[in-house]
Amino acid sequence: MSTPPPPLEPLDESWDRALCVVAHPDDLEFGSAAAVARWTGQGKTVAYCMVTSGEAGIDGMAPAESRRVREAEQVASAAVVGVPEVTFLGLPDGVLEYGLTLRAAIAHEVRRFRPDIVVTGNFRETWGGRSLNQADHVAVGRAVVDAVRDAGNRWIFADQLVDGLEPWGGVREVWAAGSPESTHGVDTTATFDAGVASLEAHRAYIDGLGWEHFDPREFLEGFARAAGQRMAVPFAASFEVFPMGFGD
Ligand SMILES: [Zn+2]
Repeated sequence: MSTPPPPLEPLDESWDRALCVVAHPDDLEFGSAAAVARWTGQGKTVAYCMVTSGEAGIDGMAPAESRRVREAEQVASAAVVGVPEVTFLGLPDGVLEYGLTLRAAIAHEVRRFRPDIVVTGNFRETWGGRSLNQADHVAVGRAVVDAVRDAGNRWIFADQLVDGLEPWGGVREVWAAGSPESTHGVDTTATFDAGVASLEAHRAYIDGLGWEHFDPREFLEGFARAAGQRMAVPFAASFEVFPMGFGD
């Protein structure tokens, strides 16, 4: 007999601004978009930052065309959940490397947007069990945590501090969505449909995957129900929380 996963603690929602930084268009829609819809519905400001444009993500479509299609799908997908701003950093899809280039690019976005919370994707080695995570996801998540610290230090990436850009040390926590080490969650029951619509906006990508009979709603329900059980609600999204303050 296996023990059930432990309950998820409700995420702190006493904040105003969140920046979501992920490797690829669609990363947020495979689980977090319903939570984003809840937050924008509460009047919070959420912005998206895509490190790549997912240009290597569709086998039957060349990167230049794929970039155009996927950026447009991501902008539409963000609008569905109340996110008006999507930034594309333009780093190379599929071959991201953890390092200073990545940290600097993300730190710049943190300094520009000045978020209270930064959301990223799971960057653990696996999704739980034996299903391995993808290299870009791991590189981005690690870089996000470091870039949040970099952003607050005026002596790191100091060349960015021109034209009024200032250090920003106000990020309280980084949240990694869908981590197998998730400790927290958010009830997405009321905004679940918006999350489905947000994933459905990635039509060219979903078609390009060639998964027969892929149903976005059914796919998202599986994860949302499992997380929901850990909060005693129908649907939820789960997050691993990394405190960014001192002494946490
Ligand atoms: Zn991805």
